[in-house]
Amino acid sequence: MPPGFVDSHSHLVFAGDRGAEFAARMMGKPYDGGGIGVTVAATRAATDDELRRLLAARIAELQALGTTTIEIKSGYGLTVHDEVRALQIAGEFSGETTFLGAHVVPAEYAEDRAAYLDLLVGPMLEAAAPHARWIDVFCEPHSPHAFDAEEARHVLTAGAAAGLGLRVHGNQLGHGPGVLLAVELGAASVDHCTYLDDTDIDALAAAADATVATLLPGVEFCTRSPYPDAARLLAAGVSIALATDCNPGTCYSSSMPWVISLAVREMGLSPAQALFAATAGSARSLRRTDIGRLVIGNRADLAVLDAPSYLHLAYRPGVPIARTLDLHGIAQ
Ligand SMILES: [Zn+2]
Repeated sequence: MPPGFVDSHSHLVFAGDRGAEFAARMMGKPYDGGGIGVTVAATRAATDDELRRLLAARIAELQALGTTTIEIKSGYGLTVHDEVRALQIAGEFSGETTFLGAHVVPAEYAEDRAAYLDLLVGPMLEAAAPHARWIDVFCEPHSPHAFDAEEARHVLTAGAAAGLGLRVHGNQLGHGPGVLLAVELGAASVDHCTYLDDTDIDALAAAADATVATLLPGVEFCTRSPYPDAARLLAAGVSIALATDCNPGTCYSSSMPWVISLAVREMGLSPAQALFAATAGSARSLRRTDIGRLVIGNRADLAVLDAPSYLHLAYRPGVPIARTLDLHGIAQ
């Protein structure tokens, strides 16, 4: 019986569907982050109850696959009202809520990015901070919709001043400044890390006590991108985690067992290393010590495997052998 999976990166509060975008990408259309705007429009148009119902269904889905802790980001509202609404609804399901007003610049501000940044680090942050534990930014100069290093630094510095912990989407679409910025600012996690150079890896290794490299191989799978070499990161001394990045654009899967199987098959991890990264590693990326390990004093936060060994998580990809244990049901 392993610890319950800790999915430390998800975007679960959204409405709408981007199956057609996925199909087009599989037929060769490149991804540049622009599809997020489609989900923003659908999410803004949804009622609170619709968003709550959709989120509840997604939570039930991931619990049925063995995940016991889920981090949930906002980022499909991108107005003060809609970001706060997403965080409030997410907070009904998880204490690990992340303000991601810096997901993309919304279309209505495309010609005036500075005005959106002023809104983001001003009234939006002030309204969102009471409902969030973390702040995140899509630091990606390769996307015209996301944020460059200077903008990301501005967002993260303001978030830290508002009392939020720092997370970064970095180095996803190409080599970029996200990893070094995350390390410099002491972020708990820098996520994706698809494109890393030696300087990035050295910096992550030197910062291994503070900053975790969270790998999201479901995204590489669903966008047909190259996988980072997780074995090399471990050998260099980097702290790594695994998470789903479950979102309607680049990885619409909430399955941590599938992520583990990808990490073993495609990123060079052993089954034990992958399981550790999906539990203790991702707990560390959330700066949690009460989950992700089965030790005396921790919560009895378990996944149950209908299999003779944890090896089957990678050995039987796509087969639902993991589930959560309903301790409340047992106690009663
Ligand atoms: Zn993400």
